[in-house]
Amino acid sequence: MDELRAMQTLSYSELAVRVMKDFVAPDLSPGELAALVQESYAGFSSPEVTPLRKLDEGLFLLELFHGPTLAFKDIALQFLGRVFGHFAHKRGSALTVLGATSGDTGSAAIAGCRRVKGIRVFILYPHKRPSELQRRQMTCIDAPNVHVLAVQGTFDDCQALVKRAFQDPELKKKCELTAVNSINWARIIAQSVYYFYAGLRAGALEKPVNFVVPSGNFGNIYAGYVAKRLGLPVNKLVAATNRNDSLAKFIQTGLLQPGPVVPSLSPSMDIQIASNLERYLFELLGHDGEALKAALQEGSKVKGYKLPAEALQKMQGDFLAERADDRTTKDTMRDMWTILNVLADPHTAVGLYAATKLYGSLPGSVISLACADPAKFPDTVKAATRQTSPVPPSLVNLEKKRERFTILPNSDQALRGFILNHT
Ligand SMILES: *Cc1c(COP(=O)(O)O)cnc(C)c1O
Repeated sequence: MDELRAMQTLSYSELAVRVMKDFVAPDLSPGELAALVQESYAGFSSPEVTPLRKLDEGLFLLELFHGPTLAFKDIALQFLGRVFGHFAHKRGSALTVLGATSGDTGSAAIAGCRRVKGIRVFILYPHKRPSELQRRQMTCIDAPNVHVLAVQGTFDDCQALVKRAFQDPELKKKCELTAVNSINWARIIAQSVYYFYAGLRAGALEKPVNFVVPSGNFGNIYAGYVAKRLGLPVNKLVAATNRNDSLAKFIQTGLLQPGPVVPSLSPSMDIQIASNLERYLFELLGHDGEALKAALQEGSKVKGYKLPAEALQKMQGDFLAERADDRTTKDTMRDMWTILNVLADPHTAVGLYAATKLYGSLPGSVISLACADPAKFPDTVKAATRQTSPVPPSLVNLEKKRERFTILPNSDQALRGFILNHT
């Protein structure tokens, strides 16, 4: 408690060092960590990095979109890019960064690595799935160390390609492969920081707080769970999904059964196989690797995997879930604007739907995570609210820039060939 009380008054960067230092030691000294953190967040458009906005008594919005690509992924990836650069420099050899994205991770990873020496970046995204703006944020970056690949498949296909590439011995030998997906542990811990930041400001020391997290890959919400495990007083973590709701159903019923991925208004959450769930399941199943393997195998089949009753009860002690379809998402965007004067992007709105639904019934404050700047989704924002969000400087003239990307078949051979050719 004393430790938490001391954290309450720290700036974001000071807090980040305090939360992360034990996880990065001895590879990074506290001084090195502080320098990397400082640099990572200096370019954010808010001096608070992740400002907490009060919407109502006991209801808060945590703005996570003040980084260079206007979505929460910048918070971890600005840091991670610099960490990679630091180690590449120390070792004196280049690193290859490989990641799959449904939209926002790619641009954030590129923005985090583009000016870093000793790093090459390969980013895979599902061809034609991200919004035009999300795509342009990846493809209009003119940096020789950045390669953007449009895969003929879904996000789940991209993620599977990346996972297999990491197991490819030839790739492993020829290039130092490093992950930027939310399967990267450093990313998770960098994200836990803002849970502490917001939770302590919203009064977690007096009464445990709740977080509502618009979810796809279970990365962001898992960082909240880690914060809880590290001692932040958290009551519930609420996973809010769009109509791609296998995660919500799993939390509500214990049945893991991925359906087909359907495009929605919140494309960064169009995911049915949440890669970080594996991490949490491992814990839930008592660190039993064999049980985890069996669960994931069953969970990928039509019949699905049923979590044992005891584990389900444990999961529901920490997590709740809600889903919002496109119609509900738009209605929420409209209501948020007319009632509270808040312009929400469609991902944030999925969370706000759950937050407004639950906040009367949950003990303690509710903090809803704002994952992207509404300016990233101007068409949906306009359709739902008739408003136009001011265009941030990083998006000005983006539509006039030249795009650079390669279309790639959904095949391990094709990916391996491309990487080896460009390393
Ligand atoms: C990545 C992303 C999400 C989903 O987060 P996960 O960590 O994959 O659960 C939600 N909203 C936006 C805007 C995102 O970029």
